[in-house]
Amino acid sequence: RSKLGLLFLVEQANEIKLGLLFLLSPPIKPQKKLCRSFIKQFFSLFDKTERRNKPSSCLNEEKKKKLHLVLDLDHTLLHTIYVSELSKRERYLIEEAESRVDLWRFEKDNPNNEHLIKLRPFLHEFLQEANKIFYMYVYTMGTHSYAQRVLSLIDPDKVYFGDRVITREKSPRMKTLDLLSADKRRVVIVDDTSRVWPQHKRNLLKIEGYSYFREGVCSVGESYAERKIDESGRNGALFNVLKLLQKAHRRFQEVDSNDLRLLIREPCTQCCF
Ligand SMILES: [Mg+2]
Repeated sequence: RSKLGLLFLVEQANEIKLGLLFLLSPPIKPQKKLCRSFIKQFFSLFDKTERRNKPSSCLNEEKKKKLHLVLDLDHTLLHTIYVSELSKRERYLIEEAESRVDLWRFEKDNPNNEHLIKLRPFLHEFLQEANKIFYMYVYTMGTHSYAQRVLSLIDPDKVYFGDRVITREKSPRMKTLDLLSADKRRVVIVDDTSRVWPQHKRNLLKIEGYSYFREGVCSVGESYAERKIDESGRNGALFNVLKLLQKAHRRFQEVDSNDLRLLIREPCTQCCF
């Protein structure tokens, strides 16, 4: 009788465990075959382990999609104004809203709530590209009905946000990421107001507020609407934020970092957008 050592592998809880089994048996031919088969299986499982350790395209995809982007609405993605607050030189927009794709008029029959919503230049391109690398959320201190109205314009088929919408009704007085079931190291916020995020400033990319209309009689200078111009699309705030997000995403994958917050801390983050 001779000893035959067999290596065996057990897959348990996503780990591969290795064992050694000795058998006592006569040295018959089939043992050699059996040995070869076990050895072959042994090395093939090592290959499998290696594949697990190396990020495959599937793993990359998974990692990519584990990043979250929280977007404010007012003054970040758009500007809304009551029609009653338009300056005289902006009232031409009431008619223009009928034919423009970036300007929408609501509640025409209700003078107390009639308003215009102007989408920020580059918004559609921004959402399309950002959606490729982030789970996106809307977080607004506006009402649920207002958010639904805006989403009917910017995401009518729920392609970008699904039902990931947080509004005033669900939020405490200050905005918080605690309402998201997401690892905070993998969340970026884009908002024009930093004071509403007292607990999560590290996650914040503060974007320059978008004001298309004149706001209040005291506002200084002419508005975009009065001058009949607009913020640049191809070199505007949303375009620049998208570039930074894409760069942070690339670095997140390349350097195998688990903290996206460190990657959005560029020298210009707080001043350029
Ligand atoms: Mg805002």
